[in-house]
Amino acid sequence: MSVLEIEDVTVEHRSAGRTVRAVDGVSIAVRPGEIVGLVGESGCGKSSLARVAVGLSAPRSGAVRFGGRPVTPLGWRRRHPDEVGLQMVFQNTAGSLNPRRTVGDQLADGVRNGRQVRELLAQVGMPESAAEKYPHEFSGGQRQRLAIARTLAPEPAVIVADEPVTALDASSQAQVVNLLVGLVRARDMGMLFISHDLALVRQIADRTAVMYLGRIVETAPTERLWSDPRHPYTRALVDAVPVISEHATLPAVLAGEVPDPANIPSGCRFRSRCPHAMPTCDQEPPVLTDDDRTVACWLAEQKGGVSNVDTR
Ligand code: SF4
Ligand code: MG
Repeated sequence: MSVLEIEDVTVEHRSAGRTVRAVDGVSIAVRPGEIVGLVGESGCGKSSLARVAVGLSAPRSGAVRFGGRPVTPLGWRRRHPDEVGLQMVFQNTAGSLNPRRTVGDQLADGVRNGRQVRELLAQVGMPESAAEKYPHEFSGGQRQRLAIARTLAPEPAVIVADEPVTALDASSQAQVVNLLVGLVRARDMGMLFISHDLALVRQIADRTAVMYLGRIVETAPTERLWSDPRHPYTRALVDAVPVISEHATLPAVLAGEVPDPANIPSGCRFRSRCPHAMPTCDQEPPVLTDDDRTVACWLAEQKGGVSNVDTR
């Protein structure tokens, strides 16, 4: 049984008089105690999906359930009491810490007594004195620790973390990820960990989903995805990992730009950049399932999929 279920969710935005479908029929489930990684380039719809997953915005269609109950998009401050068990860590701490209130006051919102505030600070490696201070008195890495403490205060069952360390320098990134994952594992929480960084996701996720232009193209247990990527896009991301940097978009093995999300190609939306595109790829790509793996690619129908094809 999954604790967080995202089912066939579609998200649309109006932008410059056009409707852009940022997320198009995405399903992801997080089981209790499981870390699921969601990987894709910036602009592929990850953050739109994250906001819907925690009830910060409404999907165009589809459903989100937390503990079997529908998540109601009423806004963060008017959430159903059961939904405090579903929390989010943002990329930018400005999204979760109030600059005008002390850290202690903000942590106290989520807990029953002052002792728990001190415990939370200790768990994220911050001194008790942090409670008297304001967010601006801390570095970016420290603020992200405090944001994590605030997220943990109501003892959530699931955390959705959207690029939680992307804004930090490299050494703080490793520390904050280790902290977050350590706490998630110790409390047996579930987590949907969203990142553009496949190498980072590989280190922490039990399962990984790869997103391209609003759709999931492949899902598999992380090590299977890594050792045997079946979708050409996943394969390109895996091949690029040794050289990928924060600002890298896609490896040189893939030519072309990401298509305009307001003008998505028919059939497989990766076909404008895929080295294996065939005539059938103009049609809807199949979503194939074999035990706990899915691949949305015609090539995956052939035995071994793209792993038998030399893409280098
Ligand atoms: Fe490439 Fe066709 Fe597979 Fe799309 S369906 S990834 S275009 S081979
Ligand atoms: Mg984003």
